[in-house]
Order: sequence, then structure tokens, then C-alpha cells
Amino acid sequence: MRAVQLVTQGRPGAFELRNLPDPVPAPDEALVQVQSCGLNRLDLWAEEGGLPVPIQLPRTLGGEIAGRIVTLGSAVKDWKTGDLVAVQSNIFCGECEFCRRGDESLCLRGQLLGISRDGGFAEQVVVPARVLVRLPAGVDFDTSAALTLAGSTAMHMLTNRAEVRPGDWVLAIGGASGVGSAAIQIAKGLGARVISTGSTDAKRKLAANLGAEFVINSTDPDWPAEVRRITGKRGVDLVIEHVGGDVLQKVFDCLARGGTVVTCGATAGREVTMNLWPFFVKQHRLIGSYGRNRADIQATLEWAAAGKLKPVIDSIYPLDQTAQALAHLRSRHIFGKILVEPFEPVSESD
Ligand SMILES: [Zn+2]
Repeated sequence: MRAVQLVTQGRPGAFELRNLPDPVPAPDEALVQVQSCGLNRLDLWAEEGGLPVPIQLPRTLGGEIAGRIVTLGSAVKDWKTGDLVAVQSNIFCGECEFCRRGDESLCLRGQLLGISRDGGFAEQVVVPARVLVRLPAGVDFDTSAALTLAGSTAMHMLTNRAEVRPGDWVLAIGGASGVGSAAIQIAKGLGARVISTGSTDAKRKLAANLGAEFVINSTDPDWPAEVRRITGKRGVDLVIEHVGGDVLQKVFDCLARGGTVVTCGATAGREVTMNLWPFFVKQHRLIGSYGRNRADIQATLEWAAAGKLKPVIDSIYPLDQTAQALAHLRSRHIFGKILVEPFEPVSESD
């Protein structure tokens, strides 16, 4: 099979298209033909060598996979060849105390697909059968690949780590991003009034089209003042934050008394300072969020099947242009998800 592998870290674009032996599933694994695989900031961190976890090279990156089961290990009972699946990228052990209670995102022996084992920038991938999620009718491979990571991350933040009550104000940071675009739709679907942010007119327009009632220009250094103005000085009940750095500090200025910030990323900086006085006086909460549980990914796909959650897809590349796709992601001139399709007609003669 063909796979695009990262061969060196710390240098952009160090990928090679290789012909590898078809992977063989262990008794509890499944071999999946990759039909669509989403790109994620995680892939760029792996490329840069900026991840706090070791990565063995060469490595096939890509964690947002949708595809079709080709072969099953001898011990797998719940699936059959040809089943259409999404793959949960936070691979969990299924046995630790957290997995047993359904908190797979807290797994003690969790692995990241495409980081700690080979992922989906390939024609085929082998994964434990327990991380397969059935694709509901009406959800195509690209929709699934574009939503299973960022969409389910937002679902986990809004329905597991925090709670949205109808009428709540929710601020979704970066409305044109993967997490932000899903957070707008999910929060609105849960009955919230949604404010979002964007750095360009086009991004703000996209956030408004997804259902944000107000969209603020995040290049204005005092953008939190606009959130306070919109909410009549009250502030928002919940912030969905995934940027970190300066943004995480600023969102506390947007927060109502008793409000909650849920954060799942630190692209803009991993170390922040915060003023503890308003934090405890206003009884704020800061909640971390990481990955997703099976229930979140199932809910995400159900919302997609029901037409309540639509992916924003920027572009789709064939497998042999994975390096160009990652360069496009690095450029940050993107609207929504970039996908790789290993089986576009152009490459099927291989
Ligand atoms: Zn576990």
C-alpha cells in the first residue's frame, strides 16, 4: 500500500510517499481502507518536533480517519468486512478505571493515532476494533473525517466537560476553525445564544453563516469589551477556548459571574498568567478538555446525520500531495478542514 511518512522532524515538508507492505491486523484489530483523512495542528507539531511525546520515525501521520473495513482480526466479533466506519483517534485501552466508566479521554494507556502509531495518510490503517465507530446513514467519508476530531472535541467540551442551558451565552473562539465552527453549531443546537470571533471578514462571515448571532473582530486588541457590550456588561456563561496564550487570559474578561472557560489547546502559548482575584470573587471555573469519549464521537456523527452539524471543508488533496496539504495548513490561509483522500480517481491506477 502507499503511505506518506514523516521521515525527519524539525524541518517542514520532510515527507516521503512510500510503498509499504499491507498492514496485518492483530486478533483484536481491524484493517481499514482509508477513504478520507483530516489534517490537524497535531500533524504540524509532529512535523516540527514540537510535541511533548516521543515519535518514532518514519511515521505515517493522520488521525481523522473515515473508511471501510477490509479485514478483521480473529477475535473481533462486532464488525464485518465492508462496514463503513469512523476511527476514534484517541486510542484507549478499554480496561483502566477511566475507560471502564466511559471516560476514554482520560485513559491511563491512551495513544494518539498517527503519532504513537501509524495513521491515515495511507491507503490502509490498522486500529484496535474498539476504536471503530459506525458511520450513520447519510454521513459520507469526508463529512466524517472533517468532524470526528474537531467536531467531537467541541461536543466533548460543550456536553461532557461543561453544560449548556437554553438561553445561555456561549462564546466560541475562532469561528472559522475546526473546533470553533463545530462549537457554534453545537451550542446553538443546545439552545444557546452564540458569540464568535474571527480575524478576517471572510472568517467572520463564515461564523455568522454557521449560526453565531454576533461575530467579533479578534484583531482588535480590546475585543473582550465588545463581548461585554453585546451582553449588556453581563458577560457570557461559557467560553469554548482552544488557542491558549493571550487569548486564554482575555476570555476571563468576557465571562459572567459563575461562568466557565473550557480550554483544549495552546497553539498561541502554553504558559499564561491570570489574575486570581476576579477569578475567585466572580466564582469562575477553568476546565481542561482533551480528546473525546466514544459517546461524544457517536453524538457528533448523529448530529451530522440529522443535519444539525455540518463540516466546513476547505480543500481535498490526493494522497501523493499530503505534504502540500500540510503546507497549506501551515499557511493558516484556510477555512475549515483540509482532507486527504487516498483513493481519488487520479491515483487509482497505482
Ligand atoms: Zn484506558
